[in-house]
Amino acid sequence: MNSGKLLIFSAPSGSGKTTIVRHLLGKPELNLAFSVSATSRLRRGKEKHGEHYYFMSVSEFKNHIKNEDFLEWEEVYRDNFYGTLKSEVERLWAAGKNVIFDIDVAGGLRIKKKFPEQTLAVFVKPPSIDELKIRLKNRSTETDDKINMRIAKASVELATAPQFDVVIKNYDLEVALEEAEKLVSDFVNS
Ligand code: 5GP
Repeated sequence: MNSGKLLIFSAPSGSGKTTIVRHLLGKPELNLAFSVSATSRLRRGKEKHGEHYYFMSVSEFKNHIKNEDFLEWEEVYRDNFYGTLKSEVERLWAAGKNVIFDIDVAGGLRIKKKFPEQTLAVFVKPPSIDELKIRLKNRSTETDDKINMRIAKASVELATAPQFDVVIKNYDLEVALEEAEKLVSDFVNS
């Protein structure tokens, strides 16, 4: 298992990394494909199985852990497991793609460690914890309890930024998108 490039985008929930990843996926010249993660969390809104996530039960997820099917996995929030299936990366590499990941900081760093040369690990930094709170509230996809859980985790995650190859400050989205595009373009063409 060793082929195309890997682009990791990690950040606290609400930092805007998903928006950045979607933007990059819209650039055909970057030849990117999104790594669809497996998760045991419930489906939100219009999310589709196989497109946003492979949704599965906690016991199904644990079976995959036992079978060593994951490249990395994390219990990101209590009882909410997330992981990258080896088969997913193999599938996208076989299609000749560079693989882009929207995953949590621990998972991102683990992949970087496994494939140090092939991976660009990017940390997306929000302006402040207060701004994160506002963004998560405006998104209205989670209950207050869940938002508080994500905010508590954000402070811990922010401390890992120096371990990444690059930090993009998402204070102004247009600037962040441009910076991300340039970084990824340089990396996939290097
Ligand atoms: P959400 O529930 O908002 O979709 O995602 C919650 C967190 O889990 C986000 O930080 C997201 O990036 C992370 N995540 C999504 N997929 C994976 C994965 O495959 N592995 C890891 N470690 N984290 C993931």
